[in-house]
Amino acid sequence: MAQYDFDLFVIGVGSGGVRAARMAANYGARVASAEDRYMGGTCVNVGCVPKKLFVIASHYSEDYHHARGYGWGEAEPAFDWDMLRENKDREIGRLNGIYRGLLDGAGVTHFDGRARIAGPHAVTVNGETLTTEKILVATGGWPVMPDVPGIEHAISSNEAFFLPELPKRALVVGGGYIAVEFAGIFNGLGVDAHLAYRGPLFLRGFDGDVREFVADELRKKGISLHFDTSIVGIERAESGVLTARLADGGEIETDLILYATGRAPAVHDIGLENVDVRQRENGAIIVDDYFQTSEPSVFALGDVTDRVQLTPVAIAEAMAFASTWFRDQRVQMDYDDIATAVFCQPNIGTVGLTEEEARDEFGRVDVYRSTFTPLKHTLTGSDEKTLMKLIVEPTSDKVVGIHMVGPEAGEIVQGMAVAVKAGATKAQFDATVAIHPTSAEEFVTMREPVG
Ligand code: FAD
Ligand code: NDP
Repeated sequence: MAQYDFDLFVIGVGSGGVRAARMAANYGARVASAEDRYMGGTCVNVGCVPKKLFVIASHYSEDYHHARGYGWGEAEPAFDWDMLRENKDREIGRLNGIYRGLLDGAGVTHFDGRARIAGPHAVTVNGETLTTEKILVATGGWPVMPDVPGIEHAISSNEAFFLPELPKRALVVGGGYIAVEFAGIFNGLGVDAHLAYRGPLFLRGFDGDVREFVADELRKKGISLHFDTSIVGIERAESGVLTARLADGGEIETDLILYATGRAPAVHDIGLENVDVRQRENGAIIVDDYFQTSEPSVFALGDVTDRVQLTPVAIAEAMAFASTWFRDQRVQMDYDDIATAVFCQPNIGTVGLTEEEARDEFGRVDVYRSTFTPLKHTLTGSDEKTLMKLIVEPTSDKVVGIHMVGPEAGEIVQGMAVAVKAGATKAQFDATVAIHPTSAEEFVTMREPVG
């Protein structure tokens, strides 16, 4: 007789939890999981997937217009928000079913309900207490809404996916991934879009040229950017019109305010008081290189550990966790050179060091930069530009950073990330024959450093 009901109990089946549960079960463990909201977690339901569908939707307004330069007639397209939202919901429903099927197929015992840790080897779900050798906390994160008077009139990205109707005007607050992506979505769907950021330039942490370049491109597309702008209060008139009061005495009148001011680890009421798990000040669960907390039977990964909040990171962590603890092959997650994309329009794709980080680390670096009009826009009349940038460490000749702002930058930089991860040199980039005519070829044809 086994000592516990299960070998592993996974709390939360988002990007990390599903993968950990499946892999551990595949390695022969007896696994249970619980989910209280939606199968597949944030990414599938209120994150990457519906967001990308909205980004695609919002691009058509431009595409219709651009097609005229290629001889297509004067169609005035009509946009139907209800249809987009319903089609999106249908697709997400399909994905929810697939995730459930994946767990079933792997032999995981799944509970629909909120789980609480009851002790180092016990979890309570739906009134039942189950014993388990190990507990994995994969509860993700939740939007942070700052303490601003009238904040109850604002929404987070969670609600933005289910708006009953599209507003005429929208103000997005924040300067990170979600703010920039949603400003683009709203703008592309015909909403008068504003973005307010508290600092002098948004996208802190990204390459300086990229940040400046994206600001210019978003302005050209018609998004109003308000930098050095803090909101001190929000008022709602009877008509429903919202007024954001600014610290400098100004105001922005709008119909919808979306706060995208970061996400905090989801640790509220999950029973952490019943175990000895150390947390950071913001609640993030502290783990070692193998996802073990200070309570030896409790593990955590993904957004709840607040390291790199990206789906492929949560998935990679889950694979490392399952291999280490259920296959006896210790695997450490490698957090270097994680490629990422921001799906603003045009996209940002980036991997490795920014110019600023590289200069700090190496002192001297060679920078290759190219700014150009993509071939497509030679006939559309659009003034959209593309930026590509390579950062090279001159002693080793290694390419240590790649940055792009342009159509499909995420797709292009994914391939480039393999080269950076493999330690490719600038000479090897130069020896690579280009694919012509593409934008991506610029990465292998830049010859003269600009700095
Ligand atoms: P989650 O996916 O959040 O899963 C946690 C799950 O735990 C949830 O389903 C939750 O309901 C459940 N849960 C919590 N508490 C309990 C409990 N007590 N009992 C039972 N269940 C519980 N990342 C990218 O890589 N690319 C993108 O394009 C991208 N876009 C994004 C867009 C938005 C708007 C947002 C918000 C995020 C985006 N992300 C993106 C980030 C990505 O979604 C997260 O990094 C990823 O989902 C983290 O996975 P996770 O497993 O840690 O947590
Ligand atoms: P981010 O951490 O990316 O950005 C938060 C923004 O809000 C920053 O600009 C920050 O400013 C600002 N901010 C924080 N607190 C306040 C406050 N009290 N008042 C005003 N502004 C504030 O978080 P997001 O919410 O955009 O996204 C969460 C995470 O989800 C991302 O970090 C990313 O990891 C992931 N994600 C990934 C995506 C992708 O891969 N494409 C898409 C969407 C999300 P400052 O910089 O000055 O601190």
